Amino acid sequence: MRTLITNGTIVTADGSYPADVLVDGERIAQVGLNLAASANADETIDATGKYVIPGGIDVHTHMKLPFGGTFAKDDFETGTRAAAFGGTTSIVDFAVQSKGRTLREGLDAWHALAEGNAVTDYGFHMIMSDVNDDSLAEMDGLVAEGVPDFKLFTAYPGVFYSDDGAIFRAMQRTAKNGGLIMMHAENGMAIDVIAADTVAAGTTDPIGHGLARYSVLEGEATNRVIRLAQAAKVPVYIVHLSAREALNAVRMARDEGLPAFAETCPQYLFLSLDDLGNGFNGAKFVCSPPLRSQDHQPELWKGLQKDDLQVVSTDHCPFDFHGQKELGRGDFRKIPNGLPGVEDRLDLLHDGGVVGGRITKERWVQIASTAPAKLFGMYPRKGSIAVGSDADIVVYDPNRKHTISASTHHMAVDYSCYEGRVVQGGSDVVMSRGSVVVRNGQFTGTKGAGRFIKRATADYSRMA
Ligand SMILES: [Zn+2]
Repeated sequence: MRTLITNGTIVTADGSYPADVLVDGERIAQVGLNLAASANADETIDATGKYVIPGGIDVHTHMKLPFGGTFAKDDFETGTRAAAFGGTTSIVDFAVQSKGRTLREGLDAWHALAEGNAVTDYGFHMIMSDVNDDSLAEMDGLVAEGVPDFKLFTAYPGVFYSDDGAIFRAMQRTAKNGGLIMMHAENGMAIDVIAADTVAAGTTDPIGHGLARYSVLEGEATNRVIRLAQAAKVPVYIVHLSAREALNAVRMARDEGLPAFAETCPQYLFLSLDDLGNGFNGAKFVCSPPLRSQDHQPELWKGLQKDDLQVVSTDHCPFDFHGQKELGRGDFRKIPNGLPGVEDRLDLLHDGGVVGGRITKERWVQIASTAPAKLFGMYPRKGSIAVGSDADIVVYDPNRKHTISASTHHMAVDYSCYEGRVVQGGSDVVMSRGSVVVRNGQFTGTKGAGRFIKRATADYSRMA
């Protein structure tokens, strides 16, 4: 099957130019002007007036994550399908090592969830909940089989939490095996004390979640894990950075030349502490770190502009308002943490970022596709419009407006955090390894067509 995409504007992290793209089988075969005569194409897609971009890569999702006695609603089929509607053609999800279990058991369980279900390609990071001699030894094998990142938590005592010694041991091991340490950086020990005080003082509504998780405690933990990584001589990637104090810690480290990296998420750029108010409705917006006061938002945009933040991913972890978020009525600490978002990321960033004049369209492609591909060992197979790259391609209409709503989105969750928001920009045709999976709002993909992305390590020092 040969598909020609004609008359579009190629937008990459490096620049934009008019060109045709010829796809042969699963890969990009040719990029250039006036390919129609020689292409011998089975199908031609007219991209006049449209951008042609590498498919989005969301390196932070949680399909089917168990949390607080329930599970995130999207599975690998519904989640990757929703992602595709939003122009995202690869996800990297988090396999979970449970306490007392091996990394292998966790990874096998996540492979079983994804295989035969995902409609687009997927990879895994490994969450380490139990650092010991055995799990440390297992890390090297995971790097070799394409799972080179390990996420640890300074938050969630009793669940995912690791103390500084455990984190440091995992960092030392990773310094040897060439992988990457990812950190959820909030001081969970202190936050649990404040949250208990908040409930005792009578604040049990979702707003308490935002009030208890001080931004300074994200800043403290971010600085701490960066300095632990410095001591262990290992690169570190801060997930879902939400606060000015945490950004300052990352910026300082990068100014010193340390291989410290960070992502933020659309919810921290577009939503705020105000959304957590309004009684129990705020449960829809409970995630950790929490939504911050609005004055953090311009700082995060500045971080994206100056490359102190390199990636925007979603932390997609959807729970229904009815029946799941409601587990926390009367005590915000029992509200499952997480928001839906995998479908909306590209459009929100295009609308608020590119149309909003905060970032260029090239930077938009970089933070949503190319930088995650590079940092997470998928480049140039993913994240690039170039000969030989996987034909994960989106024909993107930068002018079409649409309204985000739970009544029209494809995520398996009963609400949207952006209900009623009008955004400019949308994916018209979405291609995964050469097959059209979404065309003008219709799903044309296949359950189980997605493949595991065996990822490499990267030379993180050169990206600092
Ligand atoms: Zn997460």
